[in-house]
Amino acid sequence: MRDAIIHKTLASLRVAPNMADWNAAREAFSWDQVREELGASADDFNIARLAVDRHVRGAGADRIALRYLPAAGEARMLSYAELQRQTDRFANGLRALGVGKGDRVFILAGRIAPLVVAALGSLKIGCVVTPLFSAFGPEPIATRIGIAQAQVLVTTEALYRRKIEKMRDTLTTLRHVIVIGEGDTASSVAGALDYASFIAHAAETPPPVTTGPDDMALLHFTSGTTGTPKGAVHVHGAALMHFATGRYALDLHPDDVFWCTADPGWVTGTSYGIIAPLLHGVTSVVDEAEFDAERWYRILQDEEVSVWYTAPTAIRMLMKAGPQLARRYRFPKLRFIASVGEPLNPEAVWWGQEVLGLPIHDNWWQTETGGIMIANTPALDIKPGSMGKPLPGVDAAIVRRHEGRVEVIEEPGVEGELALRTGWPSMFRAYLGQDERYRKCFAGDLYLTGDLARRDADGYYWFVGRADDVIKSAGHLIGPFEVESVLMEHPAVAEAGVIGKPDPIVGELVKAFVSLKQGIEPTEALRMDLLGHARKRLGAAVAPKEIAFLPTLPRTRSGKIMRRLLKARELGLPEGDISTLEGSE
Ligand code: AMP
Repeated sequence: MRDAIIHKTLASLRVAPNMADWNAAREAFSWDQVREELGASADDFNIARLAVDRHVRGAGADRIALRYLPAAGEARMLSYAELQRQTDRFANGLRALGVGKGDRVFILAGRIAPLVVAALGSLKIGCVVTPLFSAFGPEPIATRIGIAQAQVLVTTEALYRRKIEKMRDTLTTLRHVIVIGEGDTASSVAGALDYASFIAHAAETPPPVTTGPDDMALLHFTSGTTGTPKGAVHVHGAALMHFATGRYALDLHPDDVFWCTADPGWVTGTSYGIIAPLLHGVTSVVDEAEFDAERWYRILQDEEVSVWYTAPTAIRMLMKAGPQLARRYRFPKLRFIASVGEPLNPEAVWWGQEVLGLPIHDNWWQTETGGIMIANTPALDIKPGSMGKPLPGVDAAIVRRHEGRVEVIEEPGVEGELALRTGWPSMFRAYLGQDERYRKCFAGDLYLTGDLARRDADGYYWFVGRADDVIKSAGHLIGPFEVESVLMEHPAVAEAGVIGKPDPIVGELVKAFVSLKQGIEPTEALRMDLLGHARKRLGAAVAPKEIAFLPTLPRTRSGKIMRRLLKARELGLPEGDISTLEGSE
């Protein structure tokens, strides 16, 4: 029998942890101290300068910042000094085009080194950066570019040809497109700039632009249950959070080799794939290739990864590949594994312990929080299945919304909505152009996360579910409305309702229920056609994997499709349980 708790002792850890005592660290903590350590001030606070230039001024110039592993071929190293040169050049290149502070730079690329350069270079001159999932289809890309009124798009030649070329004329706000060629060849997209020559011809001097902590830095899109995607606005001051959480939640030490496997289109891919490790001056592994169990084990072994930040879907896929594969590799340098984005099954925590020799440390946060809020840290005992405890500088609570008021539930073990006391530096500052939606997220000084959770008597938080209908599939947050809208475009479709269907590997898979227009027969050929239509418009990450036909879809009295009823039916819940769901979204 496995214990309910994985006990930690300081002696059992390979390296003294940054946070030996949770209570003491929380008591001693102050954001001012973090600011001082980073050497940031109110009139010169820039994520990219803190992440890159700061080390070059010190002893870290020749340290490797990025170890970039292309899908095929040799690894490439970028020192902090080289990263400074390239990001300065990118920044100056943008300035020469007349692009400056507040302008929106979108980046559509996989995990490649130029993405890091473009993101940091843009930040250096106060541009606002939005990374997009490369698995997005044209529809989600165009929607987001439109909402943000993006002026610049940086992408790869392959992605440009597949997703942008045909709709380029409709993206009217885009003034410049910068295209990264395949391998070492220049791109040949007409009307676009080639990334390599763009960098090569730009000045290498530090761009004379400063930003402050409240200047907008990143715009991350996230999905809600209804309406268009929401652009969560983040500021340069968020770097304080990235630095503090890199220290406490990821336990970064100066000699670490850190690997964050997140897609750059997801906030984790920016906050922890780029910013946090660089703020700490460690070496980050950037792997271009898609998931492959054997490749991943090889990377952990050969790159001597010491701190690994990944996600439950990936862990479940490794578990599926079997322990024998893992046992062919050795991980003597690996000392800390963390995971985020979806519920991490207790089984997965134990699998880490038994197969990799280290438990997996779950942590919790979301696009809006900008950084990790609740975590299992190295010296904290783990209760498998729990997300851990709030980090220093973070105050969490469980609340209940009641007759228009929000009450904090003090009693342990009671389920409610997870809330956070405002004031942490990486809190989102707006949903771009949607003030009312933003305001609705707050009650007094509490930010309401939309997640249901409970806190136990020892202060550990346990994820219960989402309070809304948003779907989490392989770590992607998917808004059912966006999928329904694309299905509705199809001439055969009368109405569509989209839900997350529980799945053992990806958590939830996107399932659509569709009713057809009068006289149209629900055939297999039509189902395939609809699946193809959705995939082409939305991309593989967002499109439904399953479509079922229904004569009509259940609606509330006010006419909204009752996704929860569809879900309850899918799960085979009895009618009694279903009726209580009526009136929900
Ligand atoms: P995103 O904004 O795409 O990062 O998604 C954030 C959402 O992912 C949260 O609101 C949760 O619903 C879910 N999530 C993130 N981390 C965890 C976790 N450790 N356990 C359970 N759900 C999580």
